[in-house]
Amino acid sequence: MPAFTITPLPASQVDQARSAALADGTAVEVTSNDDAPFPVRCCLHDASADEGVLLLSMQPRSGDSPYAAPGPVYIHRDRCAGYSPQGDVPQILRGRTLSLRGYTDEHMITGTAVVAGDDVECAALQLLDVPGTAYLFVHFAGPGCYACRIDPAA
Ligand SMILES: [Zn+2]
Repeated sequence: MPAFTITPLPASQVDQARSAALADGTAVEVTSNDDAPFPVRCCLHDASADEGVLLLSMQPRSGDSPYAAPGPVYIHRDRCAGYSPQGDVPQILRGRTLSLRGYTDEHMITGTAVVAGDDVECAALQLLDVPGTAYLFVHFAGPGCYACRIDPAA
């Protein structure tokens, strides 16, 4: 049994952000594959432009704290089936440099690590072991955008 669970942005929050960004004109539709693949956060999958991909700003849900911040994410333009785990770690985390940040229940940082995607399990377990750590946020270290959340297995 895996020692942690990985979750994408909640579908309800993605739906709300998509609607709002399309309505106010802040969503950017991806029209070419020049920068592909696009790691969509709705289902943690590397998408291509022909799937329909939007770039917009979202703030991952967390408590109020100095660390709470919105950032750029790709999502599917149309609601998708969501994330279904295939093994412990989604492929979009492999082959990318990741920044892991551990937080308390009050969303204050307990520890950080920058690791290659292939080392995410080890780094996640080490950070989850830091006293007071309730969950982790994973960001893509280069562009600095939010990827997903990691919680200890129940
Ligand atoms: Zn999706």
